[in-house]
Order: sequence, then C-alpha cells, then structure tokens
Amino acid sequence: MTTHREPLSSVLETIGETPLVRVQDGPEAVPVYAKLESFNPGASIKDRIGRYMLERMLERGELPPGGTVIEPTAGNTGIGIAVAAGQLGVRAVFVVPERFSVEKQQLMRALGADVINTPTEDGMGYAIQRAHELADELDDAVVPQQFSNPLNAEAHYETTAPEVDEALSGRVGAVVAGCGTGGTLMGMARYFREHDPGTHIVAVEPEGSAYREFLGETVEHDSYKTEGIGTHDIETNELFDPDLVDDVVQIADRDVHAEMSRLAAEEGHLVASSAAANSIAAKRVARGIDSGRIDAPHDTVVTVFADSSERYLSKGLYGSFDEWTG
Ligand code: PMP
Repeated sequence: MTTHREPLSSVLETIGETPLVRVQDGPEAVPVYAKLESFNPGASIKDRIGRYMLERMLERGELPPGGTVIEPTAGNTGIGIAVAAGQLGVRAVFVVPERFSVEKQQLMRALGADVINTPTEDGMGYAIQRAHELADELDDAVVPQQFSNPLNAEAHYETTAPEVDEALSGRVGAVVAGCGTGGTLMGMARYFREHDPGTHIVAVEPEGSAYREFLGETVEHDSYKTEGIGTHDIETNELFDPDLVDDVVQIADRDVHAEMSRLAAEEGHLVASSAAANSIAAKRVARGIDSGRIDAPHDTVVTVFADSSERYLSKGLYGSFDEWTG
C-alpha cells in the first residue's frame, strides 16, 4: 500500500486505498484502469471484506468480542478474514477441502487461524455443512458466509467504489469485474448506478462457468483453470443481481494464460488469472465504447486485479498453457 504518508498503528489500516493504474494495452481514447488489490496486506481484494465483515458483525453484536468466525473457504477470503481476526481479537477457523492450495492454508495458519480439512470427494458443499455444524456446537461462533452475506458487497460499496470514484473524479463509464461471490461487482455496480444509472456494468466469468444462467440462458458447464471467479451452481451466488448487470462475458483459459504473461512482460503486473480475465474483458468493453457499440456516460472503464501471481507459481501459471492446465 503506497498512499499513506503517516505512521500507522495496525496492519488493518493498510487495507484499501490501493493504487488505480492504467492498463496500457487498452484503446487510446477510452482508458482502462485497474485497481491493484495485491497491495493489501494479505495480498488480495478479500482483505477488504475480511476487515469490513468482522468489524460490522462485532459492532452489531452478531459476533461477541473474543468470539469465533468459521468460514468454509479455500482461498483469499480465508487469508483476508485471518488478517482481520488476528487484529480484532477474534478466533478464525477455516473448513477447507483437502485438495485446495497448501500455500494458502499455510498462510491462514501463520496468521493464527485453525484450518480443518474435509475429504476432497465430499466437495465444498460438505465443507459448508461442517462449518455450520461446528458453529452450532459453540455458543460464540458465527459463519460470515461470503456468498450470502450482504456485508461482502457492502464492503466494496463503502470502500472500493468510492476510492475509484475519487481517483477518477466521478468519470466512470463502465465497471467490469469477475464474479466469484459477485460481491466486488455488486458493491461497485450499486454505487456507480446510484451516481449514474447509465453506468455500463459487465460481469466476467471463465468459459465453462454458469453465470449466464442468470440471464435465462442454457450453459454448457465445463471445468476451467481461471481461479477465484465463476460458478457451477448459481443458487449459491445469492448476492448476484442480474438487474445490475448489462452483460456477462466469458473468457477462455487460453486467452487468460496469454494475458497473464503479457501483463507481466509488458506492463509489470504480477497478477493472477482473474485479473487477466478482467483485463481482457475491460479492454473489450473499452473498444466497444470507443466504436460506439456500447453506450456509457464516460469514456473510462474500471476493473480490478484481485490478487498476485506469486500465490500460484507452483501451479505453473507462467509455464506453457499445458503446464498450467495439465
Ligand atoms: N479474483 C480472485 C483471485 C478471487 O479470489 C475472487 C474471490 N473469489 C474474485 C476474483 C472474485 O471476487 P468476488 O467474490 O467479490 O466476486
């Protein structure tokens, strides 16, 4: 995090206020800007919801001081919640299917959290069920549940969106963001549509993911390598509101792979697959605005680069396409 000029008392104060940087490969007349979320202390956009959800839940008394949060998560959300929990005096427990990245589990443990593994073959559904069972056994425990908790989208409505708004002096024509829970896009969409109902909003997902089912389409589900975005069961994506979205675009793993390498080699961005998918989709929207095909109130497109490629080096993301997907 680079914008603070004064000493800070806690790492929590370094969450947010991330840099907004132009993607140089976009069209000249319609700049694309990306919010670099790996500048957060847990190195992803999920630090924002970790801090925001826990602080609000403590304030509202939903989580008692010194209580426990139990979240079924294998990824950045666990790290984000663990960073916040450690500083707010809350115990964090994560229920993680065994197959998920060992690196991320090590980081959660290093931050003081407990990680409980569930059998891979029982899937994420069982991890969710186990988290709720464990919470029921304790009288001070809650499950934040990022997929259904409105505080997730609210964190972006209250922090990510206003930061972008201020940096661009309100001139935001389109918001383009990959959807995992949909929290990032929904929070930003709601904020910018309130400011200008014509703001063009685009959700991004990997090819093979099913967000387009929200638009009433039949989708052929397939596996994909792009991480952190996409869904195979839209009923779990309770935060996603299709009325706030103009389009859902699908990006192929092959294009994501090439864009990750290009972003590093040409623009110095060590970012992971969801950022590359967002970059491709945001440039496409910018070209659409440039050509007049897409209507937007301003000639500016905003997206997010959610995390860093360093978290996935062991998965060969800078190797050949076959090494990454193999
Ligand atoms: N990119 C990465 C790397 C993520 O971990 C996530 C969260 N799953 C997202 C994008 C999507 O964010 P959201 O859950 O807010 O839709």
